[in-house]
Amino acid sequence: MQFHLNGFEPGDPEIFDRSERYLASGAQGSVPDEVDVLIVGCGPAGQTLAAQLSAFPDIKTCLVEQKPGRMLLGQADGIACRTMEMFHAFGFSERVLKEACWINETTFWKPHDRQDATIVRSGRVQDVEDGLSEFPHVVLNQARVHDFYLDVMRRSATKLEPHYGRRVVAVRPAASGGDGAAQRVTVTLQQLEGAHQGQTETVTASYVVGCDGAHSVVRTSIGHELRGDSANHAWGVMDVLAVTDFPDIRCKSFIQSAHDGTIIIIPREGGYLFRLYIELTKLETGERVASRNITVDELIDKARRIFNPYSLDVKEVPWWSVYEIGQRLTDKFDDVPEEEIATRLPSVFIVGDACHTHSPKAGQGMNVSMQDAFNLGWKLVSVLRKRCPPSLLHTYSAERRAIARELIDFDREWAALLASTHGDGGGTDPVKIQSYFVRSGRYTAGTATHYRPSILTGEPDYQHLAEGFVVGTRFHSAPVIRLADAKPVHLGHVVEADGRFRIFAFAGAGDWAAPNFGIRRLCDFLAEGESPIRKYTPRGEDIDAMIDVRAVFQQAHRDLAIEAVPALLLPQKGRYGLRDYEKMFCADIRGGNDIFAIRGIDREAGCMVVVRPDQYVAHVLPLDGYRQLASFFDGFMLSHSE
Ligand SMILES: Cc1cc2nc3c(=O)[nH]c(=O)nc-3n(C[C@H](O)[C@H](O)[C@H](O)COP(=O)(O)OP(=O)(O)OC[C@H]3O[C@@H](n4cnc5c(N)ncnc54)[C@H](O)[C@@H]3O)c2cc1C
Repeated sequence: MQFHLNGFEPGDPEIFDRSERYLASGAQGSVPDEVDVLIVGCGPAGQTLAAQLSAFPDIKTCLVEQKPGRMLLGQADGIACRTMEMFHAFGFSERVLKEACWINETTFWKPHDRQDATIVRSGRVQDVEDGLSEFPHVVLNQARVHDFYLDVMRRSATKLEPHYGRRVVAVRPAASGGDGAAQRVTVTLQQLEGAHQGQTETVTASYVVGCDGAHSVVRTSIGHELRGDSANHAWGVMDVLAVTDFPDIRCKSFIQSAHDGTIIIIPREGGYLFRLYIELTKLETGERVASRNITVDELIDKARRIFNPYSLDVKEVPWWSVYEIGQRLTDKFDDVPEEEIATRLPSVFIVGDACHTHSPKAGQGMNVSMQDAFNLGWKLVSVLRKRCPPSLLHTYSAERRAIARELIDFDREWAALLASTHGDGGGTDPVKIQSYFVRSGRYTAGTATHYRPSILTGEPDYQHLAEGFVVGTRFHSAPVIRLADAKPVHLGHVVEADGRFRIFAFAGAGDWAAPNFGIRRLCDFLAEGESPIRKYTPRGEDIDAMIDVRAVFQQAHRDLAIEAVPALLLPQKGRYGLRDYEKMFCADIRGGNDIFAIRGIDREAGCMVVVRPDQYVAHVLPLDGYRQLASFFDGFMLSHSE
């Protein structure tokens, strides 16, 4: 898809009439007095969370944002493979795939050996290793990511719209010391727009989530601060439409010059636009980059010097910014101090940049922020719908802070490696940069996240049954054939952002039609009596409303008879009791993509892979691990069978 040829146009490039390219968004009227969840901030974190909650009409959610309306330009643009997997769960990965720029190759440039005022290419690598994800690494304006989330919310059961022009000025957390059950958080908002400008509104909420960025008021209200690098780096970033003879302008490129610092080139959506990240000087402790009054012309001049001997004729700069960013982290991502976890429940959370900040070099900020929200979203849904006890919410800070810590360490190492020596003719060895880039590919792709054993992540005692589905990491999808209609699909794509757990049962060897076949016996167990499905699915709801069971067979689809599969795999659902034909899959043998081989599944024994609502592998168990399966769900779910 090509667009922006005659100048940058914000909004949906598929709409010809520029006045219709973006719809006005925003709720009318005052904010509600009482809600279940108040989300502060309409950045990527706030919108991921809001989109998740918006699917549940029994949860009253309010999203407030100080800006007057939706974002049209700027900020982050890198979308990691893992984030694309999550976008698929929200239903808009195809739109992003179509519109975004795909990052396929990354190139590295260094000063010329003999004429060090010029640059030469020192290497090029494939950007993402083969097989890491079914999705590519792509780049798209953050504003468009916001647009897609706004669409999800608008089309959802709750038709959720943000309340713009509201600044949170005070958050009074629930009183400490109690069990938190009936306590509510009180939030004061100031209206910044319209006839009621300057007036305040008060909202009480069961839960308040601060997705309000690096200068978070919510974070301050619960007594946390961002700690970390005091020596900030200043960065210039500009999106440009320009004419250049630099040959790698449509590839992500790292350029190290001898005397003028480094540039990162990010090709952008539409085929013409590109972004330049220009490293500026290191700031003094406490210094803000704004005090240096850097202009866009200075950024262009610096970029031109680094590009030498290539030309750079900038025609339009639709967005630019100069900002300082350090690697910083808070101690806790909720309002319960470590020493009070056993006696208090969290009611205020912070997410995204409000609790960790990164340099833009590794493209973490937006991606990690959205993953935080995806982690918290299903937990809030489960607690508010009384499927899980409120103590589940402690796992958000425990899981995400550990991940943020790792990513910040990675970011710091990467940023230090890339940092040029500004003018002394030195710099880091480009070969070292290239090799580190390749080694750290899983971090930048977002697939390195690995949750440690907890109530939500089992011990890897049976990991040998499915070596490619590593317990604690995201469920790594693979192709399969759907049994009922022979459609080639990706198994992981059945995991939608709907708050449900999944059990993928992989068949072992033997006669699949025999009564003692592993999957058949598992289905018998799950369908009856005290199984987790019976215990945790509220009466009157579909059998897969809480835990969705899917089976994958080793045989080709024509070697199985749909009429002979266990009833649990052909469940009758909805008002008419219609059969759901999409629970059974076969290995894609003809296509050479046998999931049993690709993901190292034990063909003799088979196994169960339990997947969390945020797509992480919670457990790998033997097909007859009924007791372990039951005790896993007993660890964090509330029974509905009594
Ligand atoms: C100017 C700028 C440029 C950036 N450029 C890049 C870049 O080039 N590359 C990159 O990778 N990352 C960049 N980032 C960082 C990236 O955008 C963030 O990492 C990412 O957006 C984090 O998402 P978030 O939702 O946690 O926070 P944010 O995107 O910061 O969203 C927070 C939202 O909360 C709102 N808010 C704040 N306080 C209040 C309040 N009291 N009441 C109501 N609303 C409030 C803000 O207006 C904002 O919309 C940039 C950030 C900024 C601010």
